[in-house]
Amino acid sequence: MKKIIELPNYKSSLFSRIYSVSSCEGKLRLTEEIKKYVVDKFGSLDMVEKQTIVSVKNKFTKEQTLYNELRSKRPIEVKTNFKISEIENTKGCAFCLNKTPADEFGRISGKYCITASNLTKYECNHGLIIFKEHNPLKIKLEYLEDYLETAKRWFDNMDNKKIKTKLLLWNCLWRGAASIIHGHMQVVASKTKYGKIELLENAKNNYNRKYKSDYFSDLYKIHNNLGLSKKIKNTKILFYLTPIKEKEIFIFSKTKNFVKISEGIYYVLKNLIKIGVVSFNLVLFKIGDYYISRILDRGNILNRNCDIGGMELYAASVVSSDPFKLIRLFR
Ligand SMILES: [Zn+2]
Repeated sequence: MKKIIELPNYKSSLFSRIYSVSSCEGKLRLTEEIKKYVVDKFGSLDMVEKQTIVSVKNKFTKEQTLYNELRSKRPIEVKTNFKISEIENTKGCAFCLNKTPADEFGRISGKYCITASNLTKYECNHGLIIFKEHNPLKIKLEYLEDYLETAKRWFDNMDNKKIKTKLLLWNCLWRGAASIIHGHMQVVASKTKYGKIELLENAKNNYNRKYKSDYFSDLYKIHNNLGLSKKIKNTKILFYLTPIKEKEIFIFSKTKNFVKISEGIYYVLKNLIKIGVVSFNLVLFKIGDYYISRILDRGNILNRNCDIGGMELYAASVVSSDPFKLIRLFR
């Protein structure tokens, strides 16, 4: 299989346990006034007059993605006039100068980062991992391992008997909702189980009960059978069939120590940055025995329009990037 548009023809009993796929054709009539614009933009009238839309839905998580063939014809590489100097020019910022509050227990220092307390918290235990490197796009494996190791030490400092969710987040640059350019992650330890993580956990439990099989193992098998997976040591990487937004990649490992997942995350980030991704969201959390990390692209950094609209918030995700094309760009 080479592209998502071919997925409606795919037959596999394992695939059908988790996914339902459908497609439809959106038709329109091009008037003379718009024909020149359409040819200039899309290179063809036929393709616009009849557009195939493929819907992929996960029956257990209820995640659903709508792919439009026309949108997915756009190159996956993010072409932008964004200049890295825009990041470098803000060097000497509050995070460079360590102008941050400390947690009540103080700070934890890593080799390439230091912790701080988040000034405006949305959770009682809410800290930051502030990179020594100002530019968040300068990433090395040893940096990432140190950030995750430092996060682990921060989580270990919490009252673990009361904590139900440990969440690591990296919102990179402003389209990823970062308010500070300087590279930083957030660490959150909550006494509640966050709703969206609980939904995924429930989906996994429901699947395991229904099929007496492990949801995440089967999810991997499905992606692997379709050529949508990679493996870095024990970490599995899925070019996710139902991305919430562009280029979502789902990484998981049964490791006891989440620092071990760094290599997989590094592999993904390195490749995403190579194809032009600069603003992204990354999360890391645990469900059962699995550490799970999810990463996605927040689109062209120079765009003023937001990539998330009413559809994504309240209905289903509309996505352009085809996971079958994305994986071919990874080295
Ligand atoms: Zn800085």
